[in-house]
Amino acid sequence: MAKQLQGIAASPGLAIARAVVLDAEAYVPVRGSVEQPEREVARFRDAIRQAQAEIERIRAVAEEKLGAEKAAIFEGHLLILEDPDLIETVEERIREEAVNAEYALYEASQTFIEALSQLEDESLRERAADVRDVSGRVINALRGVQGGDLSQLAEECVIVAPDLTPSDTAQLNLDVVRGFVTEIGSRTSHSAIMARSLDIPAIVGAGAGVRDIASGSVVVLDAVEGVLLVDPSPEELALYQDKKAQYDRRKAELRQWAGRASVSADGHRVEIAANIGKLEDVQKALDNGAEAIGLFRTEFLYMGRSDLPTEEEQFQSYKYVLEKMAGKPVVIRTLDIGGDKELPYMDLPKESNPFLGQRALRLCLERPDVFRTQLRALLRASRYGNLKIMFPMIAVLEELQEAKKILAEEKRQLIASGVEVADSIEVGMMIEIPSAAVSADLFAKEADFFSIGTNDLIQYTMAADRMNETVSYLYQPYHPSILRLIRHVIDAARAEGKWVGVCGEMAGDLTAIPLLLGLGLHEFSMSAGSILPARELIGSLSFGDWQSLSKQALSLRGHREVQSFVQEQLQRRVSV
Ligand code: PEP
Ligand code: MG
Repeated sequence: MAKQLQGIAASPGLAIARAVVLDAEAYVPVRGSVEQPEREVARFRDAIRQAQAEIERIRAVAEEKLGAEKAAIFEGHLLILEDPDLIETVEERIREEAVNAEYALYEASQTFIEALSQLEDESLRERAADVRDVSGRVINALRGVQGGDLSQLAEECVIVAPDLTPSDTAQLNLDVVRGFVTEIGSRTSHSAIMARSLDIPAIVGAGAGVRDIASGSVVVLDAVEGVLLVDPSPEELALYQDKKAQYDRRKAELRQWAGRASVSADGHRVEIAANIGKLEDVQKALDNGAEAIGLFRTEFLYMGRSDLPTEEEQFQSYKYVLEKMAGKPVVIRTLDIGGDKELPYMDLPKESNPFLGQRALRLCLERPDVFRTQLRALLRASRYGNLKIMFPMIAVLEELQEAKKILAEEKRQLIASGVEVADSIEVGMMIEIPSAAVSADLFAKEADFFSIGTNDLIQYTMAADRMNETVSYLYQPYHPSILRLIRHVIDAARAEGKWVGVCGEMAGDLTAIPLLLGLGLHEFSMSAGSILPARELIGSLSFGDWQSLSKQALSLRGHREVQSFVQEQLQRRVSV
């Protein structure tokens, strides 16, 4: 029997492959004794060679992407690996004390780091960080642990990690990475969201057991049930191979829904759109029959690089998406950085509550240079398709007004300088902060549309950090408090003749969909992989029935009651 771990199925699918373990935490080796010191020395030299090759590779990539000056840091890393003082100290220690190489290297480099840290000269003091980095790389090589350059993975694998940042996720080489599992995280953490747009199976929040998985062991990732099997028996392997084949067949069956409209059984039409984060996601969205892009999370254009994208780079990206969608609506959200989405090169101050801090539009209003560059790129791209601009994280009316004012200024200036800008661009906002939801009637007079960000709306309504798995039980999309806020937002928009979408994860949730349909939602925006099951489900629902059923659901007592109510109703209607 395999060892099993249970986590949160963050992005559905099954994968069977060898594990590649990523080590994100500082690792302190334990002292161990070796019987054959000479062998240990040879192992140490091998690890050095491996680290050298890794650094060479990274140096070449850095030179291409960042220029020779920035790549020079890796020359320094290579020199450390050739430093006779360090190497001889380690080898002597292995020979004289018969200790393991990890420990000998760790101890020797600590001595170097301490000595360097005491020096007056700042540039020499900085070398301490380089020694730490390099010795960590060699220790990883000794332990058979992947060092962290995710774009370099060359063989089919499942990534195993304490956590993956959104920029780690953005770098995954999808030709070989079959899925990932992390120790922490929740369904709405951004790496989970990215896994869904990349359409790769992922389990998050699988707990401390993840630390015991060794690189190279075979794992079965069942991201439908949220189960991970480590070293499966031949019987288990056969069982899961069958399950995977069945899953793939069902996926193929769903393809018939790709070219169809999204219409309920009684003829009520809605729109199913896709959420994207990277340019590659647009093709996935189209392949899955997206009628629009309901959310382009532009912050991913800013990640995985060492400086802000220029206006021209952004313009090219937006133009690409608009042209590719060929006239279909494309909602592009302005930069939503902060929370779990960091940009190290912006050097933002550390905050104790980043999700409640200077995130998204708050930051953009503080950094008009960054904001205006993005707005100009969007305005210039507007003539290539059906662009709608959306502002995130609005709490009070003045923020919307200020953002719109800056947008109007940029538009005027561009037109004055002879640049062509589309005549009418809808300008909308996310509803993801309870204050905005409660006063949606006020916002509806000034925004052209709303898109409800349920991931944040739930976290802020429940006061439960979306990254913290110990409070993940409070992620309750069907709780009447959330449904009532959504109803209020939809009604307020309707009263002003505006449209409303949901672009949080709730839009693709098969239990939430009947309720959202019944409440009169116009647009459902979700990860590409959720579109076809959602369209199939909507095709089987009666809008008329769910208008009254959703009213009943809103008067139930809690999340569980609503969930069972919806599931019973769905079952009853299938069996009639
Ligand atoms: C949301 O909060 O629901 C949303 C769609 O935005 P993000 O997940 O990027 O915060
Ligand atoms: Mg949000």
